[in-house]
Amino acid sequence: MIKRVGDTDIQLTHKASCHCGAVELEIDLPDGIVDPRRCDCSICRRKGTVMASAFLSGIRVVKGEDVLKLYQFNTNKAKHYFCSVCGIYTHHQRRSDTNLYGYNVGCLEGVNPFLIPDVPVNDGVNHPADRL
Ligand SMILES: [Zn+2]
Repeated sequence: MIKRVGDTDIQLTHKASCHCGAVELEIDLPDGIVDPRRCDCSICRRKGTVMASAFLSGIRVVKGEDVLKLYQFNTNKAKHYFCSVCGIYTHHQRRSDTNLYGYNVGCLEGVNPFLIPDVPVNDGVNHPADRL
C-alpha cells in the first residue's frame, strides 16, 4: 500500500477528478493506493493508465454523474466509465472481481502516478477471468 506519492499524502477519502473537472469522485483509500498496475488488455493498452483498486462502496460520484459515460465490450461484465466532455477514464467496475473498482491513479488530486516506482503490468491478454 502507498500512503504518499511525491509531496501528496493519500487521504482516507481522497478527491479525484477528470481533466475538465466536470466529473468529481470521492474515493475511500483507508489503505492508501492498493495494487497499482498497468494492464495490456485491448482497452488498457490504449489508455495506458496506472490503475489501483477500491471497493464498490468506496467510490462516490459527487459531481458530473450526467456526463459520465459507460462503455462496455466483449463479455459486458466490466463497466468502464469516462468523462464525455474531456474523454478521461475515471474508474471501472472490474471483470475479474466485480466487488472492486479500478480507478485512474492519475485522477487523484495532487498525485503524479509516474512517481510510483515499479508499477507492474497485468497480463490482460490472458485475462484472469479467461484462465481455467
Ligand atoms: Zn472531463
